[in-house]
Amino acid sequence: MTMKKKQLFGTNGVRGVTGEMMTPELVLKIGMSLGTIRSGTFAVGCDTRTSGPALVHAVKAGLLATGQNVVELGILPTPALQYIVKNHYDGGIVITASHNPPEYNGVKVIEADGTEMSDEEIITLEETLFAETFSVVGWDKVGRETSEPDGIQEYIDGVINQFGPGTCAGMTVAVDPGSGPACRTTQEILTSLGCRVFSINSQMDGTFPGRLPEPSPEGLKPLADLVFATGAAFGVAHDGDADRAVFIDDTGAYLEENEEFALMQYHVCKNKPGLVVTPVSTSMRVEDVAAMTNCRVHYTKVGSISVARTMMALAAAGEPVVFGGEGNGGLIFPEHQHCRDGGMTAAAMASLLKSEGKTLSELRTMLPPRHMIKDKIFTDNIPGLLEQVQLAFAEDEQDLTDGIRINRENCWALFRPSGTEPFMRLYVEAAKEEEAQAFCDEIMAVIGPKEN
Ligand code: MG
Repeated sequence: MTMKKKQLFGTNGVRGVTGEMMTPELVLKIGMSLGTIRSGTFAVGCDTRTSGPALVHAVKAGLLATGQNVVELGILPTPALQYIVKNHYDGGIVITASHNPPEYNGVKVIEADGTEMSDEEIITLEETLFAETFSVVGWDKVGRETSEPDGIQEYIDGVINQFGPGTCAGMTVAVDPGSGPACRTTQEILTSLGCRVFSINSQMDGTFPGRLPEPSPEGLKPLADLVFATGAAFGVAHDGDADRAVFIDDTGAYLEENEEFALMQYHVCKNKPGLVVTPVSTSMRVEDVAAMTNCRVHYTKVGSISVARTMMALAAAGEPVVFGGEGNGGLIFPEHQHCRDGGMTAAAMASLLKSEGKTLSELRTMLPPRHMIKDKIFTDNIPGLLEQVQLAFAEDEQDLTDGIRINRENCWALFRPSGTEPFMRLYVEAAKEEEAQAFCDEIMAVIGPKEN
């Protein structure tokens, strides 16, 4: 049996340059495809990109023409739309290109339970799209459009209710929503929790005048300056659709996202030891914290959809799933919802610092040192290289959840095909840089010289 593969959609929806691959025609067809394979009322929203309105209208046209109802939510973070869909609707679509540069845009399809559509369902949607077998209806069956511009408030309240007003009374924080949709949410969430909030890049603007939608350490220098100038406990920044949050500590230093995951895991598991779900690409810090807090770790394939769906399946099977996410600032708090949520993560950081009574820079010292090396190996023989590595390291413990993960006493390596492009990703992590490099060299010796 040959496995059917997604052609248009990648790991996190479909993305492309506006006016080139990403056109209203394509988005209209996505809307018509969704309206053909699903039915009911669909929430539609977008991030702050300049191309948002044109593509929102196109997707709504597709849904309405195939007889589905549409609720227009306006500009909002992806997790806000997911939360609202989970509570009220039969599905949703977000027009966003997440962390990609301003010229990009994209489409994320959300299911009735608030999670992103699975690969199997996306393949069905793509088949409808390519075959153009759309169920366009007549005049008496077309859908209706309504508007809920203030629907976002339900999400803001949902996050606040996880902690309670006044949770971080007296704490000063700095926020950089990056001119994205979190301008409508994160400052209000933190203010309601009692924080004194200073912000930059806090006006929605699809030209992204302050920094790019990817919250890189370089792009966050002004946020670090703001943290320093205001004496803030931390700075928080989001990517272009605010499903991720990254942090600057009280000294102005960037908090690496695997450290962020580990500290949040510590906060959750200390009070509630249970099961933590994360992909095989996450730092062994997750094991360090598991040992400190008596929680267990369940590994999944790479990608937030795998993590979210595994968390839901394990919980349904009676497992005490307490936390999940990826080492890229995309954290999932299952008591709130089963998707990455940047606003929720910002609030959880305030809660963590308040309850620990330590500064973020002090908390970081609790984690043992870890060094990760990431590399790409370009090849047109992915199966061959995988087999070579599997054979060469047959004596080691191997995990085949996604590619090959080799686990040793105090280090590990992951060798896996990229989801979308013809190369392999190599991750190696150890306590010290030289140990990681030695293990990396060992793997490179097996797979031969890089050709890039
Ligand atoms: Mg994102």
